[in-house]
Amino acid sequence: MKVRTRFAPSPTGYLHVGGARTALFSWLYARKMGGQFILRIEDTDRERSNEESVNAILEGMEWLGLDYDEGPFYQTHQFDRYKEVIQQLLDSGDAYHCDCTKERLTQLREQQMADKKKPRYDGCCREKNLAAADNTVVRFKNPLDGDVVIDDMVKGQVIINNRELDDLILARTDDTPTYNLTVVVDDWDMKMTHIIRGDDHLNNTPRQINILKALGAELPVYAHVPMILGDDGKRLSKRHGAVSVMQYKEDGFLPEALINYLVRLSWSHGDQEIFSREEMVELFDAVDINTSASAFNTEKLLWLNQHYIKNKAPEDLADQLQNFIKAAGYSVEQGPDLIAVLKVFQERCNTLIELAEEMRFLYQDFDEYNAKQAKKQFKEATLPILESLKSQYAELSDWSAEAIHHIVENTVNTLEVGFGKVGQPLRLAVTGHGKSPSIDVTLELLGKDKTLSRLSQAIDFINSGN
Ligand code: GLU
Repeated sequence: MKVRTRFAPSPTGYLHVGGARTALFSWLYARKMGGQFILRIEDTDRERSNEESVNAILEGMEWLGLDYDEGPFYQTHQFDRYKEVIQQLLDSGDAYHCDCTKERLTQLREQQMADKKKPRYDGCCREKNLAAADNTVVRFKNPLDGDVVIDDMVKGQVIINNRELDDLILARTDDTPTYNLTVVVDDWDMKMTHIIRGDDHLNNTPRQINILKALGAELPVYAHVPMILGDDGKRLSKRHGAVSVMQYKEDGFLPEALINYLVRLSWSHGDQEIFSREEMVELFDAVDINTSASAFNTEKLLWLNQHYIKNKAPEDLADQLQNFIKAAGYSVEQGPDLIAVLKVFQERCNTLIELAEEMRFLYQDFDEYNAKQAKKQFKEATLPILESLKSQYAELSDWSAEAIHHIVENTVNTLEVGFGKVGQPLRLAVTGHGKSPSIDVTLELLGKDKTLSRLSQAIDFINSGN
């Protein structure tokens, strides 16, 4: 049997991290088993669905590298098929027309609640054999007794007695099919073997199984994945910050970091934290998914992002960084070679935004200094140090990190001051904020002309009494 899994988002917003994790697990399982992964857009709720969300989902999947073998299929293209199956269920006596009014149903619900009973349809029209009319819905004739047994790959065995379930609506009065019907028809038609989805769907599963059975369909295996919580233990939502996958892209995260983060959220392999895509495919198994909900931890995601930024080939990183440099408002055309810069800077940052910010001083002049740093580093006594550095650097013809370092050492020795008294003001003079990799490498990248002009600027700044 060829494994077939699917991701079936409803396009009512962006692709959020919870959806992305479900998609990832389905994708991984298909890839691991040499099966197929299908994308199905569940857009039958026309009021809430929109094209923008469809695009956001497609874009998010592409960015994360979750490629699908079939689809995207759209449920709105399948209305005739849903009608056909509803008719099949009516013909076989597994569904019936119901004309209960809203008022009756409301009254029934209120009464049941007052009696402390679970609100459910009472089967009033079940045996009436009503004909279809403008005011009728189609209901599924749920078995009255027996159990539905789900051998869930994550939750283990879940048993639901049919008495807990009621006759759910398959088609509304306007003939449109409901969610449980469309999912069942598509999972059946698309020959799904494994349904990996959020555990918020667990209570739909016994109903869907009953419909599948009534249709004589082979049952898929289910895996219900626990939800993601925010750091306060509540279900992850916008309140907790970024939840949209594309927002992470904009915030300077690499897709491999987010994928690695998401796979570890509710799945583990010993205490390994870093997984390449190939390793994930090799090691993943749905039965190893944790049963309990896991909390989103931004610190850990940042740590993984730093790892992937640090280990990325500088040429690839340069491509991805372009947009961030543009957004930061400078250009790398005039200035040190970006690849050489990345080799030094890429291990220093958590996000691409930070990276673009840290490198800025190499490409863009500034006329202000970090005030706190300036107060600390730029004093009267600093002047002779910066003057001495400037004249020695002006004379230097071999602009190498080694020679640059030698001059710093020489200054420390001749002026008899500590290393920090030379290195720190020098760093502030060239960066404006006082943060950089080791000073010799920094100056080598910045180049001789820029180093000299920034030293002059700092000397003027101190002379002007700030
Ligand atoms: N469309 C449903 C949702 O976005 C998923 C249905 C399913 O996976 O069965 O929640």
